Amino acid sequence: MNGTPADLCRAALDLTLARLPEGFIDRAPFEDAWIERLQDGTYGTRPAQLQLLALLPAEDAWPQLSPVCDQRPSSAPVTFLLTLDHSASRLEREMRMHQVVQFAPYIVFVPVDDPATCPEHAAMDGRVARILPDKPRPEFVDWRWGCRCTTRQVNRRQLLAQGLTPPD
Ligand SMILES: [Zn+2]
Repeated sequence: MNGTPADLCRAALDLTLARLPEGFIDRAPFEDAWIERLQDGTYGTRPAQLQLLALLPAEDAWPQLSPVCDQRPSSAPVTFLLTLDHSASRLEREMRMHQVVQFAPYIVFVPVDDPATCPEHAAMDGRVARILPDKPRPEFVDWRWGCRCTTRQVNRRQLLAQGLTPPD
């Protein structure tokens, strides 16, 4: 997360806020503080987390977050922050993917191997999608709050070597 470009952070915020009622979070002050803490390297410290949580609605004002992938109990504001982190990292990874798409055009879904991962994502272990140059995000699993699942980018030979079937 540290070092993630600000435009990727904003895109991650767009994606995450789209899952909440419009205007639920006062975006500008939160966005500024979040990006500042990432850029000054204090993100991840307790004071930074408290500062960011204070800019979010109180815990009891949040709607039920659904669907979730990370089933460990955590408050909605904390889940929101975690989801933003994962989302920014995912966007960064996707950006790198596109840089080498001609050499490795497939992505394999890799669910986090622990009991907190939702059964739906766990069941998609090894699902393959092709990365399309004109499509920024290979949407081959559904979006979920707290999802820590990841992907691996491979070429056709690596795919076959893993016993996986190319989708095309
Ligand atoms: Zn997941």
